[in-house]
Amino acid sequence: MSAESPRPEVRLKGIAAAPGVGHGSVYILLQGMAIVACEKATDLESEVKRFEQALHETRLEISKLRQEVVERLGESEAAIFDAHLLVLEDVALIDDVAKEVRKTGFNIEFCFQEVAQRYITIFENIEDDFLRERAADIRDVTGRVMDKLLGTKSTKPAVAVEKQIVAAKDLTPSETASMSADSVIAFVTQEGGRTGHSAIMARALEIPAVVGVRGLLDTVQDGDVLLVDGEEGLVIVNPSAATLDSYRDKQLAIKSRRNRVMSEVALPDETVDGAAYSLLANIGGPEDMEDARTYVAHGVGLYRTENLFLRLDAWPSEEEQYVEYSDVVRQAHGQLVTFRTLDLGGDKKLGDLTDEANPFMGYRAIRLCLDRPDIFASQLRAILRASVFGPVAVMFPMISGVEELRRAKEFFLNIAAQMASEGIVPKVPIRLGAMIEIPAAAVVIDDLVTEVDFVSVGTNDLVQYLLAVDRGNQRIATWYEPANPAVVRTLERIFASAAKKGVTAAVCGELAGDPLWAPLLIGLGATELSMSSPSIPEVRFILRHSSAQELKALGKAAMALGDSVKIKNLLADFALSKVKYRT
Ligand code: PEP
Ligand code: MG
Repeated sequence: MSAESPRPEVRLKGIAAAPGVGHGSVYILLQGMAIVACEKATDLESEVKRFEQALHETRLEISKLRQEVVERLGESEAAIFDAHLLVLEDVALIDDVAKEVRKTGFNIEFCFQEVAQRYITIFENIEDDFLRERAADIRDVTGRVMDKLLGTKSTKPAVAVEKQIVAAKDLTPSETASMSADSVIAFVTQEGGRTGHSAIMARALEIPAVVGVRGLLDTVQDGDVLLVDGEEGLVIVNPSAATLDSYRDKQLAIKSRRNRVMSEVALPDETVDGAAYSLLANIGGPEDMEDARTYVAHGVGLYRTENLFLRLDAWPSEEEQYVEYSDVVRQAHGQLVTFRTLDLGGDKKLGDLTDEANPFMGYRAIRLCLDRPDIFASQLRAILRASVFGPVAVMFPMISGVEELRRAKEFFLNIAAQMASEGIVPKVPIRLGAMIEIPAAAVVIDDLVTEVDFVSVGTNDLVQYLLAVDRGNQRIATWYEPANPAVVRTLERIFASAAKKGVTAAVCGELAGDPLWAPLLIGLGATELSMSSPSIPEVRFILRHSSAQELKALGKAAMALGDSVKIKNLLADFALSKVKYRT
C-alpha cells in the first residue's frame, strides 16, 4: 500500500449488479487465488522458512509436471514451465517477500500475496507484449505456492481481515458464496453480466456490486480507494471530496426511499383494486431464510439447491442434503418451499464433471440428473425426507420437452413410492413443476402445462437462449435485452397457456425482482413472482400502488410494441408514475 500522492479520480462504467453504495480501499483478487486472512505472525523467521519450503515443493512439482509434458508432448510444449521455474528463482521477488514479512510482522500468505500482486500489476502495465505476458506466469506460480502455504488445493476466498472492496477479473459463484456483507464492502468485476450467478448472489447477500467493468484491472491499483455505485453501475476510482459529498446525499436519498418501501413490506400482496398475486423468495440455503422473514416473503419460490454443492465444492451425501433441506422447510413455518432440483453446470461448476467447451449448452441441470440416477435419487430422497416437516414443491430445471419432463416426473414418483413404503410421507402432497427457460419448452408450453401443477419461468436463461446471448459475457451484454419483443411475447404465451389449464404461472428469474419488470410480468398474466428477498419491498410497493386494470393495460401496450427501446421506456414511465425510481 503506497503512501504516494493520491491518484486522480477516474470513472468506469459497468453493469449495475446489486444495489447500494460501497466506499473503501480496494483488494485486488488474483484470479484463482484465495483472499487470505491478514494475521500478526508470532515467529517471523519461521514464516520465512515456511515460504522457502513452499518454494521448494513448488519447484519439485513444476519440474515433475515439466517432465511429464516433455514425455507426452515434447520439449517445446514444456517450455512454459521453464518460465514458471524462473519466477520461483527470482531473487528480487523472494527477497521482497521476506522483507515484507519482517517489515509488517504479518503472516507469510498475506505478505506473499501482497508482493506477488505488486509484481503482477507492474508486468501487466508494461508496453512490451512479451514482458506483459509474464504476468500470467507469475499469477500461475503464485497460485501454486499459495496452495502449498495454505496446505490445500482450495482457492476459495476466506474472510479478508479488514473490510475492503474486492476487485477481480471475474468471480465464480462459489467465491461469491463465501463472501458476506460482514467481510466485504462491495465487489467489482471486469467480466460478468447482471444475471450471472455471482451477481445474483451479491443481491441476495446485500453486497453492492458492479460487474462487466471494462478496463477495471488496468485502471485499479493496490492502495486505490473505490466508490462502488451498484445502482448506476458505476465504479469511481479515488473519488474526489466533491464526489464523496454528492454520494453522501445520494445515500441519504436511497435510505429514505428504502424506509418508504419498507413501511409497507408487511401489507398484503394485492393491487389497489384487490387482485391477488404472491411474492416469494429465491434462496440458496437456510442462511437466506432470515431475509425471507424480514422482507415478508410468502414462501420460497426458488431454492437453488446446487448452492450447497458449490459451498462444499463436493458432492454432498443424502444426509448432508437432508439436514439443510429440512432446516429450510422448518424455518418456512408452513409456507411452501419450492425445491429446484440440482442445476449444476453452466457457470456453476463442480470438479471436472462439468468442464466442457460450451457449458451453458452442455451437461447441465436435468440432463446431468437423468444421466446420474445416483445423484438425482439421493437429492430427491433428501427432499422427500424434508417434506415431512411442511409443504414442498419440486421443480425441474432446463426442461426442453414433454418426454424429458415425464422422465423426471416418473423418476421422482418412483422414489416417492419407495419412500412411502418406508413410511416417509410428505406432510402435504408435493406439487410438481417445470422451469420454462429453454425456448423449446416455451414452444410446446401447451403440452407441458398438462403435466404439472405449476410452471416457473427462468427468465435469466430464457433470455439467454432465446436471444443466443451468453448471460455472463460482458462484451455482448447489450445484446442481453429482456425488453426484446420476442421475450415479451414468449412470456405472454407461457402465462396464457398456464392460465388456460389452471396451472400456476410463476417467474423466478431476475426480472421478477426488478421494479420495472414486475408490473409487466403481472400485467402479462404471471401470478407469482419469486426474487432475492431484499428485492421484495420495492416490488411489493409498486404493485400495491397499481391497479389490476393498469397492469393489464401495461401488458397489452408492451405486446403491441415491436421495439425494445419503446418497451423499456414504457416500463420506466410506468414505474416513475408510481414512485420516483432512479432519480
Ligand atoms: C433462471 O434461469 O432464470 C433461473 C432462475 O435459474 P438460474 O439463474 O439459477 O439459472
Ligand atoms: Mg436457469
